[in-house]
Amino acid sequence: MTGIKLQSLQQTQTRQLIIAGGGLAGGLLAWRLAELMPELDFLLIERGATAGGNHTWCFHQHDLSKEALGWISPLVAASWSAYTVDFPGLKRQLNSGYFAIRSDEFAKRLKTRLGKRLLTGQNVQDLSDQHLLLADGTAFKADCVLDARGPDMVNPERVGWQKFVGLELELAEPHGLQAPVLMDACVPQLGDFRFIYLLPWDNKRLLIEDTRYSLTPEMDADAAEALMLDYVQQRGWKMLKISRRETGCLPLPLEHAYAAQPKPLSLGLRSGLFHYVTGYSLPESVRLIERLLAHAHQHNWQAPALKMLMSDYLQDWQARQNYFLLLNRMLFRAAVPEQRWRVLARFYGLSENLIRRFYAGEMALRDQVRLLAGRPPVSVSRALSCLAERSTR
Ligand SMILES: Cc1cc2nc3c(=O)[nH]c(=O)nc-3n(C[C@H](O)[C@H](O)[C@H](O)COP(=O)(O)OP(=O)(O)OC[C@H]3O[C@@H](n4cnc5c(N)ncnc54)[C@H](O)[C@@H]3O)c2cc1C
Repeated sequence: MTGIKLQSLQQTQTRQLIIAGGGLAGGLLAWRLAELMPELDFLLIERGATAGGNHTWCFHQHDLSKEALGWISPLVAASWSAYTVDFPGLKRQLNSGYFAIRSDEFAKRLKTRLGKRLLTGQNVQDLSDQHLLLADGTAFKADCVLDARGPDMVNPERVGWQKFVGLELELAEPHGLQAPVLMDACVPQLGDFRFIYLLPWDNKRLLIEDTRYSLTPEMDADAAEALMLDYVQQRGWKMLKISRRETGCLPLPLEHAYAAQPKPLSLGLRSGLFHYVTGYSLPESVRLIERLLAHAHQHNWQAPALKMLMSDYLQDWQARQNYFLLLNRMLFRAAVPEQRWRVLARFYGLSENLIRRFYAGEMALRDQVRLLAGRPPVSVSRALSCLAERSTR
């Protein structure tokens, strides 16, 4: 650990476990810990005024085990039994559950469950496997410190970007949507793969997001907002007000070495565990949490043993990501930007079970072949050069 003063160490507070970063991954672990191991002396430290930040986190029913769905369900703000996608020439409803968590409700529930075990408004200045220092000089020692402080730096040449602007709208009359629209790609592509995402909270409230898959991270939020309001008008919806805004920009890896080597004692985006094509991290965070809890239940939270467990877990997980890296290279490097939607349109024409396995990150070899078989929706020579390119440079 760097920069920690000896005087601070002499007044060090001790805990069994400390989680740095009270966003999605850190919050979910703390949520489950408080339920499963109420006697554990742990702390969740978040620099924001509340946990969670400003997000809507969604996941598919088949991304999680039944048990995980059970313990996460009190945090779910809304769920639907189906969703739809819309591409030129393909309109489809997929009959598979979809769930949404709102970070404001997540923060309230977490605060109630954790009580004093949640420390907000505290910036973690430095940490190591068993020590943590706050910016105000408070020092902690623990059996284990887990880093869940969100994404790390990435190499911009080795990623594509999923970027979006979201608006929560209140409408004058019912919008008529029964299920989320995961992709309406029948909109002008504007030089990227662009689609509108719609989440109907109730019959007059919805979240609309303008999403782009792009080689650059910048996005003009005002222009995107104007385009979304045009879209709303074209659908015949009368807007009363915008009640919330949300933005995001996620790096999607094209090669393994897209970021600094992930640290073993980390969670969420900090560990690099997320779906490389969709950017969703909730399912991977939940899987890691279940693995950690199974280990700690039988053993304890000592950092050296956990570090070994997590290193093995990460290595094994990364070895299974080559296919998703290839898909990203197809999407970002082989497809002409305006034609990227064709890759996704082809994907959504496949069987529902394959689509479920894709979201869950569990594609069998036959699924992988099925997805790439036939005439590719991109230039053949570019597709071949993506296949020839290795996932690690
Ligand atoms: C707008 C948006 C929407 C997304 N939607 C989805 C989705 O629908 N489904 C899905 O699975 N994924 C989604 N993702 C991707 C990903 O799951 C989220 O980014 C998710 O929040 C990542 O979780 P995390 O815990 O790794 O990081 P975060 O949720 O970002 O949490 C990190 C936390 O650490 C805190 N922190 C950082 N530094 C310090 C410090 N020095 N001291 C103390 N605290 C610190 C931050 O304030 C933050 O609260 C979305 C991402 C974005 C940006």
